Amino acid sequence: MRNDIKSLIIGNRLTQSVLSALHFKELSWLGWRIWFKYILFSKPYVPKNELIIEISDTCNAKCSFCTTGIENRKKGGKKERKKFIEPDFFEKIVHYCKQQHFIQKDTNVCLINWGEPFLHPEFEKIIEISHREHLNIYLSSNASVFPKISKNFNASCIKNMVFSMPGFSQASYNKIHQLNFEQVKSNISKIVETFRISNPNIVFTLFFHIYRFNVPEIDAAYKFSKGLKMMFYPYFAFINDYEMHRDFLLKKSSPNDLELIKRFLFKKCEIPIKLIKTCPYCNRILVNPDGECELCTIKRTKIGNIFEMTPEKLSKCFEESKICKECMQLGLMN
Ligand code: SF4
Ligand code: SF4
Repeated sequence: MRNDIKSLIIGNRLTQSVLSALHFKELSWLGWRIWFKYILFSKPYVPKNELIIEISDTCNAKCSFCTTGIENRKKGGKKERKKFIEPDFFEKIVHYCKQQHFIQKDTNVCLINWGEPFLHPEFEKIIEISHREHLNIYLSSNASVFPKISKNFNASCIKNMVFSMPGFSQASYNKIHQLNFEQVKSNISKIVETFRISNPNIVFTLFFHIYRFNVPEIDAAYKFSKGLKMMFYPYFAFINDYEMHRDFLLKKSSPNDLELIKRFLFKKCEIPIKLIKTCPYCNRILVNPDGECELCTIKRTKIGNIFEMTPEKLSKCFEESKICKECMQLGLMN
């Protein structure tokens, strides 16, 4: 899921298209075909005013280039935080954020950061609170599970829902997510159908992560998304783990990481393109299930409890952050 969010930071459609075009020396004619057919005219959802409340800090996938996936691949990945946010606590955070004007009428409230939201055992309660509080909800899922919801589930506060896919075959899923591909496809169809009953206006988008091995599968994924009347948005997969990405740019990767990067990713995705001088993540609130604010979506760094956070304190945290300075210098946020 983080890949989804990071891809959006690049900004508007034009920048996204230009950055994508820079990769095509490696893809040759096929790459250009993909660019013209799927990317140039795609309109991904770009959050303008967004706040993140992470409802699940756990994920069942094992993506090779994501912080959570890397933790999951290591035996017994380290966990220090709560897995799921408690609904009452979620409500308390929402009230505080409204009081501090972190949440305003046009704010998109994203319920994901480093975990799978549909694993939350009380997902429906979170959505009920969101509905009561008139929030605009953004969700992203790997669709490995169907959420625990009742027949009366009301999805009317959900504005955008993204499904991220690392390919369109079991062979591709074995390489990255390590989930059951048929199950994922069936869940996507069921989620789209079920959520549309109470909210026909949800914008569903299939985010297709392009790796070296899955280019021939793009067409099949496109047809699948169109069959369900979803938007289709393919983009180049990238390293979504701060340390792994930084080490790569500084040419300090371990032999294993380097081998994986070369085998799976299109090389140019990892060259920093310093077109952006300011970071759109700065000054954005990100709250984990413990109620701790974290710096941003590319690095887990606590910056203070949400109930002590004010807009002034928040600005100061970003201004003084050494990580932000390093990140800007290396162009990691690209
Ligand atoms: S599905 Fe998303 S959160 Fe889970 S491991 Fe993969 S990229 Fe990370
Ligand atoms: S670390 Fe700082 S500069 Fe880098 S993406 Fe996060 S907020 Fe932006």
